[in-house]
Amino acid sequence: MEIVARERRGPILTPSSIPCLRSLPTINITQGCSLGCTYCYIKSYRDYPGPDRVVLFTNTAALVAEELKRKRKRPERVYFSPSSDAFQYLAEVQQATYETMRALLDAGVEVAFLTKGFVTDRFLGLFEKHAHLVHAQVGLTSLDHTIWRTLEPRTSPPDHRVQTMRALVSIKLRVTARLDPLIPDVTDASPAVDSLLEAISASGVTFAAASYMFLRPAFAKILASTLKRLQPDQQPEEWSYQEFTDGRSGGQSIGEQERRERFARLADIGRQYGITVSPCRCKNPGLADGSCHIAGSVHRPTSIAVQPDLPFA
Ligand code: SF4
Repeated sequence: MEIVARERRGPILTPSSIPCLRSLPTINITQGCSLGCTYCYIKSYRDYPGPDRVVLFTNTAALVAEELKRKRKRPERVYFSPSSDAFQYLAEVQQATYETMRALLDAGVEVAFLTKGFVTDRFLGLFEKHAHLVHAQVGLTSLDHTIWRTLEPRTSPPDHRVQTMRALVSIKLRVTARLDPLIPDVTDASPAVDSLLEAISASGVTFAAASYMFLRPAFAKILASTLKRLQPDQQPEEWSYQEFTDGRSGGQSIGEQERRERFARLADIGRQYGITVSPCRCKNPGLADGSCHIAGSVHRPTSIAVQPDLPFA
């Protein structure tokens, strides 16, 4: 994996355009992502650097620290990372993430993240010191290693992600799981999904957001053939185009009624293990009205007033 170091310019703590995250600033530590999920939507972005390269912004932590010093209103919470994973296995990325999150947490700003990556002991130490400020969501759809290798080849292994949930819960963080993207009759089938929810429950997590696979137009064909390799009965080419809440993006997926039934079944299974399973609202307009907690568990105002002369801690 090639790492291209680059300096970031301009303001960094600005709101996201992603509907679920519109109310708070988001930070990408890298442009591109080394974890290489086969279904990842960033591959269709104009500035995607390619599968074997990430652009690492080397001055993110410094910019965050400067902006927090200057801002009259600090953001209450910052989300990592809408178009990359903050916990990629690359040491340089881990270091940049650590410094950036530490700058925020030391200043009293909450940090929320969704990851399929590697949350090391160093981060656990940092998060433990600021447990009340950290919201974690860990993505996991299957405990099966063939599925993991096929769909998410460079992410943290499934059992390791369950351990990550357990470790984060043990230091008193608010931790949720994300079952996304589920594949009908593969990752949502019994007994696989029962084992998955049982393992998540044993880690101490009690909430899981869920969503099904969407084939984005830019790489629908290649992803459809990957799904057929996993299970020859799959017929993703027959899925119809479904719009997300933003009305601008979407992809081919199973129909709304079928998703409704499958979510209801997942919710029933989740209940057996003490887990609330709730559909992701952004991708399932008409099916969900709650929050999938992608950016933390509590809705609060987007910013808090900061005295102009308050020193940056
Ligand atoms: S971890 Fe997220 S951003 Fe990275 S490749 Fe996978 S889906 Fe894309």
